[in-house]
Amino acid sequence: MRLYEYEGKKIFSNYGIPVPEGEVASSPDEAVEKSIRIGFPVVLKAQVLVGGRGKAGGIKLARTPDESREYAEKIFREGVKGVSVRKILVEKAVNIIQEYYLSLTIDRSNRKYVYLASSEGGVDIEEIAAKKPEAIIRVYIDPLAGLSDYHLRYLTEGLGLSGEHAKQLQTISKALYKIMIDYDADLVEINPLALTDKGIVALDSKITIDDNALYRHKDLEESLSKDPREFTEEEVIAKKHGFSFVSLDGDIGIIGNGAGLTMATLDLVAHFGGNPANFLDIGGGARADRVKAALTLLLKDPRIKVVFLNVYGGITRCDEVARGIIEALNESNIKKPLVVRLVGTNEEEGRRMLESAGIRYFTDDDEAAKYAVELAKQLGG
Ligand code: GDP
Ligand code: MN
Repeated sequence: MRLYEYEGKKIFSNYGIPVPEGEVASSPDEAVEKSIRIGFPVVLKAQVLVGGRGKAGGIKLARTPDESREYAEKIFREGVKGVSVRKILVEKAVNIIQEYYLSLTIDRSNRKYVYLASSEGGVDIEEIAAKKPEAIIRVYIDPLAGLSDYHLRYLTEGLGLSGEHAKQLQTISKALYKIMIDYDADLVEINPLALTDKGIVALDSKITIDDNALYRHKDLEESLSKDPREFTEEEVIAKKHGFSFVSLDGDIGIIGNGAGLTMATLDLVAHFGGNPANFLDIGGGARADRVKAALTLLLKDPRIKVVFLNVYGGITRCDEVARGIIEALNESNIKKPLVVRLVGTNEEEGRRMLESAGIRYFTDDDEAAKYAVELAKQLGG
């Protein structure tokens, strides 16, 4: 679960991380009223769960009540990057001297927490990593040993801070650690963490909570039920039809049944030199309509050149899968090569249906994966 900026900042504030004075508004009238109460200049910030709001027009500096009204109306009317805006955070504007990046996350392969910090804040960490990787400081924390003063010193020294500012950064870093543990978070990010004429202040917040731990945080569960988080279009479709979907950055669409087989299919494709475009698990006992929805979703994705469907029929019946495939292909006007490996319950019936629809059919998954990768290469140019 991803928290909104204003929710994250409330937590920051409770844990002693300085944030600008701010209030949440649900209408332009309220935004104006709150701007006046806080005092100009103020910053109006669209509360949406997409990044890069600044560039997309979701963050505006207002100097007068008229400007507050104009910008609030515009933000509520136009939304940000196609996402509608229901709340605006109105904040006292600050004078930024320098923008830092600071986050705490989990490094799963090292089984440690890791702080990432940079004095090149304000832009995405991915962008810093691509353009200036040496500007990122990493400090690993063994969760069993916990946080020590030397970790904090690495951070401040790495960022070139000393004196009062170093002390402030250490207090903030310590608070991030506490938030991470107390909230079962998998990411707590401040970008930018701003050095201002009044000290170091968190200007943005990004907190994601492990969904499996939500039951331990009744307050968050409640705010989630009051205000369901926005999902991507694909996630909405996946939720509605009951399959699991994760987008990746390759060009071969993958459909499998069961998380294990689907993961193994990704590995197989990678093994033969291909790049999976997604993880899509239709789950156990999928009927034709779910298969159809899954395939339709991948056919629509312009990045995908080939779809590889790998199903092992147990409680899932091959004839149901074949029917879903055929319906999706018949109703879609987008043509893409499809590689199907389908074995198990009602295999003969499924095979007959696919072959009479002219779909290439495999029983060996190595052969099928190899063929899918070759096709993608041919189409890739
Ligand atoms: P994001 O683009 O969605 O990550 O939104 P941020 O909250 O990080 O804001 C983007 C940028 O707006 C920041 O990097 C700052 O440069 C600027 N900004 C945000 N709040 C203030 C403020 O109070 N004063 C000034 N001068 N700039 C601000
Ligand atoms: Mn930001």
